[in-house]
Amino acid sequence: MRKLVAGNWKMYGLASSLAEIEALKGLTGEAACDIVVCPPFTLLEKAAERAKDSTVAIGAQDCHRQISDAYTGDVSAEMLVDPGARFVILGHSERRVFHHETDAMVATKVTAARTAGLTAIICVGETRSERGDGKAIEVVGAQLRASVPAGASSSNLVIAYEPVWAIGTGLVPTIEQIEEIHSSIRQRLEELGEDRRNVRIPYGGSVKASNAAAIFGAENVDGALVGGASLKATEFAGIISAAA
Ligand code: PEP
Repeated sequence: MRKLVAGNWKMYGLASSLAEIEALKGLTGEAACDIVVCPPFTLLEKAAERAKDSTVAIGAQDCHRQISDAYTGDVSAEMLVDPGARFVILGHSERRVFHHETDAMVATKVTAARTAGLTAIICVGETRSERGDGKAIEVVGAQLRASVPAGASSSNLVIAYEPVWAIGTGLVPTIEQIEEIHSSIRQRLEELGEDRRNVRIPYGGSVKASNAAAIFGAENVDGALVGGASLKATEFAGIISAAA
C-alpha cells in the first residue's frame, strides 16, 4: 500500500512558515508516498497556492459537523475545500481533551468531511493509564467502532494510531506494540466491511527522521502522522524519504 505521511502543524505557523512548504517541494520531488501538510486554518489558502502542481497536498486540523449555520468561530468542511484542502485531521487527542470531543462528535465530522469531498484522518489511541491497565486494544477498538460512520471507505478515510502518551513526549511504543495495535485496527476495519480493507493506518507519536524507517518497517504501518518534526522541511523530508 502506498504510504501517507502527514504533518500536523497544530497552532504553529505564520505566513513566514510557508517557506517550509517551498523547501519541502524541493526536498521531496517525486516522493514514493503521499505527502500532506496540515497548517492552521489561517494559512490554508496560501499553503495550497504554494503546494499547487506539486506532490504536497494540504489538509486542515478540524472541521464542524454542519455545512453552515450560526456557529460563531467554527469552520465547516466546505470552507476547507474552498481554499484548497483535501484532507482533514479529526478526533486528534488534543481536540478530544481540550475541546471535549467524543467519538460520536468525531463521527458526525467525518460524515461532513466526506460530504464535502475531503479525506478524513481519524486519530485513535490510548492514554498512558489505559495502556498500563492493559486496555489499549479495547480502547482503540471502541474508538474505531464509534467514530467511523457508515459510508467511510479507503477513498475517504485514514486511521492514524496515535497513543496519547507518545504525542510530543519523545516516547515511542516498541515495534511490537505498534504492530499489535495496527493489526487490531486492520482486523476491525475488515470486520466493518470490504471497502475498509485498504484504509491506510499511519502511526503518530514522536516520529522523527531517525526513527521513521524502523516504524515504517512495522507490519500494517501505512505511513505517519507527524507533529513537531513536520515543522521543519529538512526533518519532515527525512521522514518522507524513509517511507520510500
Ligand atoms: C501529533 O500531534 O499528531 C503528533 C504525532 O505529534 P508529535 O509528532 O509531535 O508527537
